[in-house]
Amino acid sequence: MPHLRGRLAPTPTGYLHIGHARTFALAAARAGTAGFVMRIEDLDAPRCRPEYTAAALDDLRWLGLAWTEGPDVGGPHAPYAQSERTAWYLDTWRQLAAAGAIYPSPHSRRDVEAAATAPHAADDAEPIFPASLRPERWERAAAPGGVAWRFRVPDGRVIEFYDAVQGIVRRTAGVDFGDFVVWRRDDLAAYELAVVADDHAMEIAEVVRGADLLTSTARQILLYEALGWQPPAFCHAPLVCDAAGRRLAKRTAGLAIRELRAAGWSPEEVLTRGV
Ligand code: GLU
Repeated sequence: MPHLRGRLAPTPTGYLHIGHARTFALAAARAGTAGFVMRIEDLDAPRCRPEYTAAALDDLRWLGLAWTEGPDVGGPHAPYAQSERTAWYLDTWRQLAAAGAIYPSPHSRRDVEAAATAPHAADDAEPIFPASLRPERWERAAAPGGVAWRFRVPDGRVIEFYDAVQGIVRRTAGVDFGDFVVWRRDDLAAYELAVVADDHAMEIAEVVRGADLLTSTARQILLYEALGWQPPAFCHAPLVCDAAGRRLAKRTAGLAIRELRAAGWSPEEVLTRGV
């Protein structure tokens, strides 16, 4: 195992399931003795609940995972809840705005669906944002100002990165994904911006997460570039499949770590037993 400083980044909108358990155990093993941050990704305030955060910490401890920095142990990179890190995200937004890398985009999801000509990318829920909705020019702004902001992707550029599990991964900007939201119109940082800002500030050397985020990694590499920051190494864990080879991502009923614990599974079984 490489001993690269890593992190756990659960989103407390529900109970963690067996897929999280396996990805997080891999993250812990790869971090080894290099330091391991617990970061709570609770930006989506209406959907996040403190009891899910408490349950996540409890489930992960029960699995035997230990972190060296986080909301309950402290450390030099506090705060560790994304809901408390807004000032840093705004700072990052300002850097991107000053670089001309992002633009205000008032279009609703419905506008985007209606104007989209390309089909949804295979592993992404969002339609590809059509270049026809890009503004020709926009006013310089000192603050996001209640409108969504998107990163302008370099159409046709192939983003290639090495992944410790998947090998070389390639995604093409404008084909696999389009201009993506970095700031939401409800004045919250969007996932891609918050994760890059935090992984950089927390000096994460390797990001370990599920393979469902491979396309996000390509987007995030563009953000690192625009910010002039060195990206971390990446390791995308295979998604857990059932005996028939179907991904469990959307079908996790009965597979929450809590439920498996209650059904008498041991930590070892949660991490290795077939489902
Ligand atoms: N918070 C995200 C999740 O629970 C993970 C984000 C990441 O690892 O970059 O899916």
